[in-house]
Amino acid sequence: MSEFSGQRITVAGLGVSGVSAARALAGLGALVTVVDGGDGPRQRARAAELAAEGIETRPGDGDTLPKATDLVVTSPGWRPDSPLFAAAAAAGTEVVGDVEIAWRLRGPDAAPWLAVTGTNGKTTTVRMLAAILGAAGLRTAAVGNIGTPIVDVVRADPAYDVLAVELSSYQLHWAPSVRAHSAAVLNLAPDHIDWHGSMEAYAADKGRIYEGNAVACVYNAADPATEALVRAADVTEGCRAVAFTLGTPDISQLGVVDGILVDRAFLDDRRERAQELATTDDIDAASSQPAAPHNIANALAAASLARAYGVPPRAVRDGLRAFRPDPHRIEHVADVDGVAWVDDSKATNTHAAEASLAAYPSVVWIAGGLAKGAAFDDLAAGAAGRLRGVVLIGADRRLIADALARHAPDVPVVDLDRTDTGAMAAAVHEAARLARPGDTVLMAPACASMDMFANYNERGDAFAAAVRTLAAGRGGHEE
Ligand code: ADP
Repeated sequence: MSEFSGQRITVAGLGVSGVSAARALAGLGALVTVVDGGDGPRQRARAAELAAEGIETRPGDGDTLPKATDLVVTSPGWRPDSPLFAAAAAAGTEVVGDVEIAWRLRGPDAAPWLAVTGTNGKTTTVRMLAAILGAAGLRTAAVGNIGTPIVDVVRADPAYDVLAVELSSYQLHWAPSVRAHSAAVLNLAPDHIDWHGSMEAYAADKGRIYEGNAVACVYNAADPATEALVRAADVTEGCRAVAFTLGTPDISQLGVVDGILVDRAFLDDRRERAQELATTDDIDAASSQPAAPHNIANALAAASLARAYGVPPRAVRDGLRAFRPDPHRIEHVADVDGVAWVDDSKATNTHAAEASLAAYPSVVWIAGGLAKGAAFDDLAAGAAGRLRGVVLIGADRRLIADALARHAPDVPVVDLDRTDTGAMAAAVHEAARLARPGDTVLMAPACASMDMFANYNERGDAFAAAVRTLAAGRGGHEE
């Protein structure tokens, strides 16, 4: 028997997470209804599958709260001001997310959670963390915003030893009772403000990840906003604040000395000594490129959580060596005539693009797309000294062009004035004209992709395909 058996539960959304939450809850004896505003072929197919299992579905009506609902379970993507949640609030019915359900489903001996959030770097850090935990011989998985639905993972048999959990600000918003073993906030920059209502509300939801932490709250020494969240958190007695830094670490920090990642937090004699963990070359050792600074920061955050859990130094090194980044995150596509071509299509906001531009001394930058209300002045001013040239595509490219005109007036800018899918090939062609040997052509658009592509994957694939065509014509070599 679980606390859910006999409860009338309304699940919002016939997507992957909604369907797995519905099945898990129905399996525990809850009376589940799944609602969804859409009633296209995909929703109908899912609804038919669930109906065959005895789960009620209402495709085509995502706004009405079914009568006598005891609990509403949201899916990622549903806005907090959705009419369904307003109806729940009016009825005094609790609303939670799939992560909260997963937390409540854990048994007494369940795997502890090492949790990661931040505006950028979450997936990369969680994958690094899972690789490190795996190298230590632990049974683990990278879950949360990625991978197998978390509701399924917490009930897996045999059980996991420990989980590397990526939590988005949306998921944290709807997960009031999650208590991580240790957690990290990587960075905090404006994003998704329309969803949360304000920067303060966004930060407060991110900060929830530290609530009740048992061993360590990990923050970014270079980002005071993350430290402020640690200070504001109500943690378990004895939990420590630990920072990561790209510089020489102080006591209670992990940092970098002469290309070596060192730990001055998780060793008894930390006043006198630092523990060597790995070198920066160990990070994605299969890549021919040196690690970008933000990926060194991600590695330090992952190492901090792993060390908080008691993983030995050697496992940090072995895990970072074994780690491979997900596609479209600073992915080296090819070298052509001495120019490196890099796909960072996942740089969908200015904070991410700023980090990846900072990784290269001389860049031809391909940018543009949907700006989501962002301003580009800081980005243009910060990157001005590194830019060989810029090629702009996409709906909001004028915003970037104007910022460049203000802060980098001498940098040549090619405005393609196109939003069709074929514009990427034209952008690659223009970038090849601007680039000089030793330069990097970086597609890090600082914008969302949906004006031109289905998603950032498709945008990255279009870039890579155009680069390969270029390489084939010029005799370049691919990675
Ligand atoms: P998330 O899961 O938070 O979206 P990813 O690990 O998928 O993060 O990385 C998304 C993009 O963010 C990368 O392609 C890179 O441009 C940028 N990025 C990654 N790590 C960081 C970081 N620590 N700080 C700033 N930008 C980063």
